[in-house]
Amino acid sequence: MSLAVRSARERRLAHASAIVERCRKCAIGSTRTQSVYGEGDPCADLMVVGEGPGETEDRLGRPFVGRAGELLDRMLLAIDLPRESVFICNTVKCRPTLEEGGKLRNRAPEPAEMANCRPYLDEQIEIVSPRVILALGAPAARSFMGPKFSISKQRGLWFEGPGGIPLLATFHPAYLLRQTGGELTAVKRLVWGDLKAVRSKLDERPQAPTPEIVQPDLFG
Ligand code: SF4
Repeated sequence: MSLAVRSARERRLAHASAIVERCRKCAIGSTRTQSVYGEGDPCADLMVVGEGPGETEDRLGRPFVGRAGELLDRMLLAIDLPRESVFICNTVKCRPTLEEGGKLRNRAPEPAEMANCRPYLDEQIEIVSPRVILALGAPAARSFMGPKFSISKQRGLWFEGPGGIPLLATFHPAYLLRQTGGELTAVKRLVWGDLKAVRSKLDERPQAPTPEIVQPDLFG
């Protein structure tokens, strides 16, 4: 990717991030500490999309930086993708919360919040133009594939994402962190299979354009 393309994408992402920072379309736009736009390589082959920022992300303004983020980094590295080589973001850019006992707790984003935030995600996908999208967890997967998507039955399958980009969903790293014993071993095996499928897809050579065949001068 040329330096000019990279710089242009960086500028567009920075501009979009500044707009998100001022956005108050949902109530969570006013309860957040700060927006979490997303980060990574503007020319990444892989875009990772989670559901929404949690407490640590909200505090630091960066996606996937808590324990789940550390696990995501290890998952990506296992398929030879350092964190800085991918683009990481969420379906919503503000932390969805609910109040319990005077404290704010994380919750999954509501469909209306994901719909409000979708133009920002679509714009990110358009700017970065990844070759593959990896959706983490059911809410992120459903935001692309509809409310009937079953993460337990349909993870690991390839779907057509926005703009025809191949999209695969797998379990969210936070889900892995909640598993123990034999369940953890089984879920790890499934996720590893999904990650290998992503690696294989990325390793497929992009289709080279068919060279124009010029008719030789046989009849001259
Ligand atoms: S979640 Fe998205 S649409 Fe809603 S207030 Fe935050 S940035 Fe705006």
